[in-house]
Amino acid sequence: MPKSAPTCDVLKPIAMASPSLPRLPARWQVANKIKFVYLQRCTTLLNLSQMKKILNEICAKYTVPQEVKALGIYPYYRPISSGQDPVVTMADGKKVLMFGSNSYLGLSDDPRLKEAAIAAIRKYGTSCSGSRFLNGTLDIHEELEAKLAKFVGKDEAVTYSTGFQVNLGVVSCLGVKGGYVFLDALDHACIIDGSRLSFSEVRKFPHNDMAVLEKKLALTPPDALKLIVVDGVYSMEGDIAPLPQIVELCKKYNASVMVDDAHGLGVIGENGSGTASHYGLTADTDLIMGTFSKSFGSLGGFIAGDKEVLNYLKHNSRSLIFSASMTPAAVAAASTALDIMINEPERREHLWKVTRHAQKAFKDNGFDTGHTQSPIIPLFVRDTIKAMKIVRMAYEQGVFITPVIAPAVPESDVLIRFALMATHTIEQVDEAVEKLTKIFKELGVIE
Ligand code: PMP
Repeated sequence: MPKSAPTCDVLKPIAMASPSLPRLPARWQVANKIKFVYLQRCTTLLNLSQMKKILNEICAKYTVPQEVKALGIYPYYRPISSGQDPVVTMADGKKVLMFGSNSYLGLSDDPRLKEAAIAAIRKYGTSCSGSRFLNGTLDIHEELEAKLAKFVGKDEAVTYSTGFQVNLGVVSCLGVKGGYVFLDALDHACIIDGSRLSFSEVRKFPHNDMAVLEKKLALTPPDALKLIVVDGVYSMEGDIAPLPQIVELCKKYNASVMVDDAHGLGVIGENGSGTASHYGLTADTDLIMGTFSKSFGSLGGFIAGDKEVLNYLKHNSRSLIFSASMTPAAVAAASTALDIMINEPERREHLWKVTRHAQKAFKDNGFDTGHTQSPIIPLFVRDTIKAMKIVRMAYEQGVFITPVIAPAVPESDVLIRFALMATHTIEQVDEAVEKLTKIFKELGVIE
């Protein structure tokens, strides 16, 4: 081999499927992450077909989904052939009560959003065929951004094609070299991925643990750039971030705070304007992020903040600049949803009525619902296989719910996520609670 030839690092899978690994459910956790180790100092270069063989072998060893399917409890990718209404029609024609959706205000199948989307397609076509930065900015993008900035009480807002892209693009862009990004342990995956792409040091603190956050802040240089990123309403547990304490810490340690309000917008705060408004802390919250895939009944997301920061993001945030802009239909639907959110407070009031009813009913029946303060009600199971069984049994009895397992949460916190919509009736909630109570008792999760 010539001296200059690179030594080859062969990707070798940790034997995920090896017999020595524990059985499910712990194995599910391991298998969720395909892990690789480097077999160092390999002396021969592999040819293309050998490399492809290795890749196929790695993937072929990932058989956990097939094994869960064989158990008859696989809970993912269930095809639906209707809108996200309280009753959805599955692809096989089965009708089920939907308690696994994020359409909190029940707007994703609203005729007004659909008409607005159709009208936008008629006028602008189906795609912007480019990024906001270059050819993909429409007048309706700018109109929506102006309305959003006003709604959340910030100077400016800019929209991205998904909420995931907002966090990816904002956290990576603002996580500058020499700086620090502080993350709650239960922050959404896209915040974590954004921090991984940043040049800042990342510091995690246990969920809502302000004492640890303070300790970690105190250990950083006073003049280093510090960004604390939290969910407003936590997507799986349904609790609200302790923003007043976070803002206090920001003031004490010279830090900025960004709130991901994917699950807070439309649900809490004045007119549903989110967590910062809920606490009366809009001015102290530096950046407010939202998605359109939940209460807004659409797809896309936005970041709102001071005009200087927005100017920086608009010219440096890579998932904004290098990705096609929100489609006309998505913009029009989100914009119509925002108008409805502001003008029809009765939707939010009904959402809270069914939410309080469900929270009480579950608690009265002995469920462990954690610290929820929102329409997201966690029903703790603390066992992966049982959680999947519950989802299957509920589905067979006509209730669609979703499991939350590792790596989204540790095995000890495995839960069923039960989510309310403004279009649910009290009777539908009662029916689901009754069925779930029987199932949880049958499996010995509650007494
Ligand atoms: N943040 C949070 C807290 C979320 O729950 C989600 C989606 N589940 C996102 C961001 C990503 O949003 P989107 O689905 O619009 O990409």
